[in-house]
Amino acid sequence: MYTIQIPIDRRLTNSSMVRAKTCLRAYGYEHVAGIRPERDGEPLVTGRSFHAGLALMQPGVAVPDVVNQIWDRYADVPVWVTDLDDWYTQAVIVCRLLAGYAWRWGEDGCLTLATEFAFDLPIINPATGSPIRNFTMAGRIDRIIRLPDGRLAIRETKTTGESIEPGGDYQKKLRVDQQISLYLHAAYALGHDVDTIQYDVIHKPGIRPKALIKADKQKLLNTGEYCGEQFPAYKSGKLAIPDRETPELYGARLNQDIAERPDFYYARWEIARLPADLDEFRLELYQMQRAIRQAELTGGWFRNTAACLHPYKCPFFEPCMAGVWPVVDVPPGFVRVDDTHPELKEDQNGSPDKSTTQESAASYDPAERTIPTSDGTSSEGHWPDNGASEWSASPADNQRGGGMGQNDPGGLFALSGDPDGTGGNWVLYPLGR
Ligand code: SF4
Repeated sequence: MYTIQIPIDRRLTNSSMVRAKTCLRAYGYEHVAGIRPERDGEPLVTGRSFHAGLALMQPGVAVPDVVNQIWDRYADVPVWVTDLDDWYTQAVIVCRLLAGYAWRWGEDGCLTLATEFAFDLPIINPATGSPIRNFTMAGRIDRIIRLPDGRLAIRETKTTGESIEPGGDYQKKLRVDQQISLYLHAAYALGHDVDTIQYDVIHKPGIRPKALIKADKQKLLNTGEYCGEQFPAYKSGKLAIPDRETPELYGARLNQDIAERPDFYYARWEIARLPADLDEFRLELYQMQRAIRQAELTGGWFRNTAACLHPYKCPFFEPCMAGVWPVVDVPPGFVRVDDTHPELKEDQNGSPDKSTTQESAASYDPAERTIPTSDGTSSEGHWPDNGASEWSASPADNQRGGGMGQNDPGGLFALSGDPDGTGGNWVLYPLGR
């Protein structure tokens, strides 16, 4: 039997638990063998870029500056990119969504109290009340905010390709979402008396660059206009009229769509948790580490072949199908990493750790903590202050409900890009005009 001398990261995070639940073999590849694909998939790149933009949206920082900085992230095209249009289209999506986000939520009246704070806390054995030795639970909470009504909330921001219509399956799933429970549990353990979770979700566009119809081409040629934006290089003849939308033309159509359907792209919901929910989560956490520990002890990293191709192709598909396990040599297209949780070390902008609190299992004293339990003795003040004693299937909708243009920053967003190699800059017009 092989023995691989790789220090195993003893931190369980939301993503590592999701990986383990999806497929223990995939967890083994990622967190025991410590390998990962040389390059991230598109959803990860897009999500990271968007979060990097959000991190830059600080008081006093102009939205165009934020968008420009994110655009610059795409200026260095990685060697593995084979389709430049697709690469720049991804950049356009992130930049337009960021500008739209600022327009949609720019004056939401929320006060940010803490951002990107990491935690590393013990996992408690529910039977004994003592911390376990093998794993801790770790993570990084996006934001703690003060809502306009004075309540304290965790804001968790996510990008998704799934529909975010109110009452839809995506929203329903949050009722039992593991990450929400993890973050709420961690916040209480760290002494943050939060009242609720504000789930802040951004729907990635479903539309993609399309062929230009004759009328669009003619209008572009005659007026330089497309989807309400001006592209003078086409009118002047500096650029030939394309048959398909370039990334910049696609961006104009996306911008128009965001302005017309803001609720399709942006939603904020309050998500409730009852003490019994958190008790259930703590038990699940304990069970999860037991299952992973059992796999470690027995080498039984069993496969879940139902997860190989859906909802996306497993990143470890090739070595897994080739039967590469245990992983002694790093398979082609993969790298071995020292840190299997880089997301805990760096924020989305690559900045150093900004943790407010870290604690080891050794120093943990449950008696010092106020962690609510379902017996109600310590839950006071921890639950959504809406008088509800039970979960409501219709969680409060925290959307502001304003019409288009309500948050229009009123400026012209100039991007310092040159996607078509013409030397011209892209121009992003404000939404809601
Ligand atoms: S390819 Fe399938 S069985 Fe193999 S690690 Fe991935 S999900 Fe698991």
